[in-house]
Amino acid sequence: MEGKVESDPDLHRREMAVETVAAIATPPGRGGVGIVRVSGANVDAIVAGIVGRSLAPRQATFAVFRGAHGEPLDEGLALLFPAPASYTGETVLELQGHGSPAAQKLVLARCLDLGARLAAPGEFTRRAFLNGKLDLAQAESVADLIEAATSAAARAAARSLAGEFSREVRALVDAVTELRMLTEATLDFPEEDVEFMREADAAGRLARLRERLAGIVSRAATGARLNEGLSVVLVGRPNVGKSSLLNRLVREEAAIVTPVPGTTRDTVERQVEVGGIPVTVVDTAGLRATEDAVEKIGIERTWAAVGRADLALVLVDARDAEGALPPEDAAILARLPAGLPRVVVHNKVDLAGMAPRRGGTGGGIHVWISALSGAGMDLLEREVLAAAGVASVGEDTFIARARHVEALRDAAMHLAAAAGHIAAAAPALELFAEELREAQDALSSITGEFTADDLLGVIFSRFCIGK
Ligand code: GDP
Repeated sequence: MEGKVESDPDLHRREMAVETVAAIATPPGRGGVGIVRVSGANVDAIVAGIVGRSLAPRQATFAVFRGAHGEPLDEGLALLFPAPASYTGETVLELQGHGSPAAQKLVLARCLDLGARLAAPGEFTRRAFLNGKLDLAQAESVADLIEAATSAAARAAARSLAGEFSREVRALVDAVTELRMLTEATLDFPEEDVEFMREADAAGRLARLRERLAGIVSRAATGARLNEGLSVVLVGRPNVGKSSLLNRLVREEAAIVTPVPGTTRDTVERQVEVGGIPVTVVDTAGLRATEDAVEKIGIERTWAAVGRADLALVLVDARDAEGALPPEDAAILARLPAGLPRVVVHNKVDLAGMAPRRGGTGGGIHVWISALSGAGMDLLEREVLAAAGVASVGEDTFIARARHVEALRDAAMHLAAAAGHIAAAAPALELFAEELREAQDALSSITGEFTADDLLGVIFSRFCIGK
C-alpha cells in the first residue's frame, strides 16, 4: 500500500539493544513513593552501582540507593525483571524510593552516570511494542488509559489493553486472508475457478465478513468518541438560556446567569460527562445584531467555536411557535456549517406551560426542556449522543482512535469493492483478491503488523516520559 512500509522490529531491537534508558516513572510532585525505571541491556552495571549487590529476579529487595562515592541518595525497594519477562521485554529495573522530586533526580542522574540515557516519551512502551509484548492498538490504549477522562473511558481502555479490540481485528484479518488464499489458489486453475468460488460460497463469506466489520466500525467509532470526547457548542439569541443550560449540564455555577441580554461576551468551556462520553460544552456570546465592539468580538468567537464543534445545540424560546421559528433563530440555523449535526432546543417550557418532549420536524431534531428546572434534560442528553452518532457506551465498548476508525472504514471500502468484483456476471477474481489484500493491509495497520515508522514516531511521542 502506498505510503506504508513494513516495519522491521528486528532492526529496531538490534539498534536498541545497545542502549539502556532510564526515566522517572511517577508523576512530578511529592508523594509516598517515587519510581525510577531503567530498561535495556546494561542494567546489571546500574544495579551494581546503585544497589551494590545482585538482585533476585522479581523479588522486592530493600536497599539503600547509593551515589558514586557510596553516599546514600535515597532508600526503598529494588525490583529486577530480567529479559524477556518484563514490560519492555528487556531487562528492567525499578527503584521505588520516596516521592521526592529532588531525591528522584539524584537517583536518575546516577543511572545516567552509570551508562543509561534519558528515555524519550513513550519509549518503554515503544520497546514493549517492538519486542512483541504489546501490539500497536494495545500500546496506544496504555496512553489512553493514562489519559482517560471518565471511568467509562478508563474501563474501555483497559479492555483494549487486555487485547479485546486487537483480537477482533485479528480474527477479521484471518478471515480475509483465508478468503484471499482460497481465491489465489483458484487462480492457478483458470478453467474451474469461477465454479469453484461459487461452490466455496466466496460471495456469502464476504457478505458475512462485511457485516462483522460494520459492527466493529460502529463500536470503534464509539470508542474513539469515548477517547477524544465530544465538543458541543451552545448557540442562540441573547437570553434564551444558554448559560443556564451550561450550568444545568455542569451542575455548578460555571457561567454567569443574568436577565440582562448579552452577558456572556466570551466563550466559556466546561467538561461534563454524558452517557460516559467526555463532553466539552462551549457557551457562547448571544447572537444578535450589535454595534458594541466587545460584543462583536464575542460573536466572532461564537462562530469560531461553532467551526470547531462536533454538535450544535441551537437554543430558542419555547414560547415561540415551533413551526415558524422567529427569523433571528432561523438565520442562526441557516448559518451553521452544512455538515454540522444540530439539535434545536426549545427552552423555558415552564414559562410556555408545556411538558418536555422531543420531536422531529422538517428542520431536524427538536427537544423541549427547561434549563431552569431541569425538566427534559434526559431527553436532551440522549439526543446529544444520538446526533453525534455515538452508540451508547456498553460493556463491549473498547477504546479506539480516529486512526483505527479510518483504517476500519478503509478496509470496509475495499471489501465493498471486492463484493462488486465477485458479484459481476464474469467475476474478476484477480481484482477481487487485490481488494482483499488491501483490506487486509488496512486492518493490519491497526495492530501494527503493517505500519509506517513515522506513524510509530507520532504515536509514541504523545506518551508521557517514563511510560
Ligand atoms: P443566555 O443569555 O442565553 O446565556 O441566557 P441565560 O442563561 O443568562 O438566561 C437568561 C434568563 O432566562 C435568566 O434570567 C434565566 O434565569 C432565565 N432562564 C433560563 N432558562 C430558563 C428556563 O428554563 N425557565 C425559566 N423560567 N427561566 C429561564
